Amino acid sequence: MIMRRLWLTHELAQLIAQHGLEDYPHEACGLIGGVNEQALSVSRIKNISDKPEHAFLMDGAEFTKTMFEFSKRGEVLIGIYHTHPHGDHLPSRTDVQEAQYPDTAYVVVGLKQRQPRLSAWQIRNGLAEPIDIIISETEPLPALPPMSRAQVRANIIALVFSFIFLIVLALSLLPPAPPIPTR
Ligand SMILES: [Zn+2]
Repeated sequence: MIMRRLWLTHELAQLIAQHGLEDYPHEACGLIGGVNEQALSVSRIKNISDKPEHAFLMDGAEFTKTMFEFSKRGEVLIGIYHTHPHGDHLPSRTDVQEAQYPDTAYVVVGLKQRQPRLSAWQIRNGLAEPIDIIISETEPLPALPPMSRAQVRANIIALVFSFIFLIVLALSLLPPAPPIPTR
């Protein structure tokens, strides 16, 4: 499935950011369970990398246990998150090379200056494509298909015409000029 966006509630986004701040200066990692693009749960997974300041490796037993819990609740794995304690919220070269789940959103949390910033990516065939993260309590409107170039041009032309029309209309609505007093 191609994920166009990832919808998180404030609480779930907060859980991810909080995990990152607690495990600082180590990278924190975990799984996001949900349905389609809607996240329903966040689970921390122990980082067992031997260089946890610069990398993450998920504990296999915890990973399996969490996947089992997802399926018990009718959820599937829709996202994998990890933090960059000193970096930004872009996937690193290693993140792209080692990504193994092409159908999930990779959430990268940058913690520069301890200010969590989240971004999401779909990583497949060695390419990372950005996914919109929507943080909202209510269901977002369905995503519109991206506008074609011709549609964009038509919209701009329509906008320009309506603006010209507005000016013309405004001019025609002006009160008539007062008569010039003559002596
Ligand atoms: Zn990374």
